[in-house]
Amino acid sequence: MPCAWLGVCRMINYTERIALLMEDVVRRTPRLSFIDLREVLVFGRFGRSDADGAFATCHCLTLPESEPGYYFWRDRSTGELTRRSEWFVTKSPQVQIGPRRIKYLISFVLPRFCDQTLERSRKADLYPAGTPGWIAKLDTVLHELYHIDPDETGIRRVARADGTNSPRSHGPHFYEEVAEMVAAYLATCPDRSLYEFLEEDFGTLTSRFGGVVATTFRNFPSFPQRYMQALATPPSDPDIKIEPLKAPTQPMLYTEDDLHIRQFTECTTRRLTRKGAHRAA
Ligand SMILES: [Zn+2]
Repeated sequence: MPCAWLGVCRMINYTERIALLMEDVVRRTPRLSFIDLREVLVFGRFGRSDADGAFATCHCLTLPESEPGYYFWRDRSTGELTRRSEWFVTKSPQVQIGPRRIKYLISFVLPRFCDQTLERSRKADLYPAGTPGWIAKLDTVLHELYHIDPDETGIRRVARADGTNSPRSHGPHFYEEVAEMVAAYLATCPDRSLYEFLEEDFGTLTSRFGGVVATTFRNFPSFPQRYMQALATPPSDPDIKIEPLKAPTQPMLYTEDDLHIRQFTECTTRRLTRKGAHRAA
């Protein structure tokens, strides 16, 4: 085995560590125990620590196909319809890992997530004074799991006070409930080896392990996202020009062959390859 690859083996696989931690969290957290993690895939996206943006996102792949629709353009002065797109529906791509159809993707933005801390965050108010800063990361892990909907309708719906569903996915108690689950999880005395990687920031992990790697998709920085599929256009007013939709440029089906391992640094990523390492994840 070449020395270079030995170095790679030593690197910490961040998404794998998160997936293992999630298994323990789901096992010990009654409100999350319905989650089947074989249907959840954790992957990495790139985002600098010194830039604003999300730390992690829960992406649902089970949303149904949309109703047919089209885009249209109006003449500015007359308001008349001048052009429209072909009819289309939006669909979720399929992610099939071995025999399993993946229902949710959870992305972690690296290295930003590794440097997340309670200090100067709105989550700080949810934890007692003196709580270590890295707990913000554990909070994020549970937060994303909590978005998984027990009713399998997509992203957990938020009930309004009157019982109807709010279009917002973070209700007033979402953050408090996550903080409660974090405290309850830690109170079960989980094995520290499962979460201690969260205690270190990105720089420390990089020097300790010689690098941080994560699962990504082949089309990085892209990943499975909703796409538009054109429908046969019904006959219409010949005066209205029909703009064809662009053909989808991203896959509609992803398998384990579409998973790559990338190394993340402060400001870039690079793909790692190994001969014979076809199933990179
Ligand atoms: Zn959220």
